Amino acid sequence: MSTDATFTYNGGKVEPGERQNLRYGISETYLGDPIRIPVTIINGEADGPTVFLSAAAHGDELNGIEVVREIAHEWDLSDLAGALVCLPVMNVPGFLAQQRYLPIYDRDLNRSFPGDEESTSAKRMAARIFDNFIAPCDFGLDFHTSTRGRTNMLHVRADMSDDEVARLAKAFGSNVIIDTEGSDGILRTEATRIGIPTVTIEMGEAHRFQRGLIDDALAGVASVFTEYGLGPEPGVRWPGWRTVIGDDSEKTWIRADAGGIVDMHHERGSLVHEGERICTLTNPFKDDNVSVTAPFTGLLVGVLENPVVYPGNPLCHLVELEDDVQQVVEREQSDHGDSG
Ligand SMILES: [Zn+2]
Repeated sequence: MSTDATFTYNGGKVEPGERQNLRYGISETYLGDPIRIPVTIINGEADGPTVFLSAAAHGDELNGIEVVREIAHEWDLSDLAGALVCLPVMNVPGFLAQQRYLPIYDRDLNRSFPGDEESTSAKRMAARIFDNFIAPCDFGLDFHTSTRGRTNMLHVRADMSDDEVARLAKAFGSNVIIDTEGSDGILRTEATRIGIPTVTIEMGEAHRFQRGLIDDALAGVASVFTEYGLGPEPGVRWPGWRTVIGDDSEKTWIRADAGGIVDMHHERGSLVHEGERICTLTNPFKDDNVSVTAPFTGLLVGVLENPVVYPGNPLCHLVELEDDVQQVVEREQSDHGDSG
């Protein structure tokens, strides 16, 4: 919890009870014009933690933008205890080009944190964001989607060996948590390293607003707010079942062994049984089809959306479930089937 209730960044401050929408310069274009990111800071009257909500570190990952904007501009935050730092579009050059990476030498903004004011263009941008809007926070949520052409279930990626990160990951209340430390330069990894527990929320596909996933993520944020006392919310949610997928769990990206056009037989979130056909690789003549079957029983956390593959391209992300969780999922999915 911050000791000083005033939120300060280089160039301004936001007092308790105040809200600011600003466009903050992080770089300059070839024409010398500023590249500015939208930032909304809401500082509640009452004391509490300072939380960042960030999205579009990858410029084409849109679902999180809507999550962050709805919290900042549609939620009733008049009783907020604490402060919110909302960064709906961090990678502005990528967002304008509707691509994942910064268009400048295709650099990954989400491998450039905590940044460096004296280094590459990407690291300078990352430093402006990190120093001003991440470092002053107590914890944070960074929203992503699957890479273009694929989709995934709403899930949390978190380093569960860190107790504070684990608390945050569980508070979000998703069915699936993937336990990974994360690579150098990733926002959640670097923020966590300096004592700001941070998790990544993965949801759906790039280039879309997916209403169901957005609503689900908003419920997750409300649950986090309850856990940390930011506001009167309905309570910390229990998603019905939860699986934490660690290094010891069986999980795999199943890859295509042939080039072709993919006929996918399941959606993200489906349970598939060992030996069951997940998809079929077809050629232009629809002869010589190749079935791809599940090597073990598991949950399809991610699947291909754009149905074309080279040999070696990922088809789906399959993860094993513990027996008791598998039974619950089995029941849930057969109930869904009954109700149509
Ligand atoms: Zn991403």
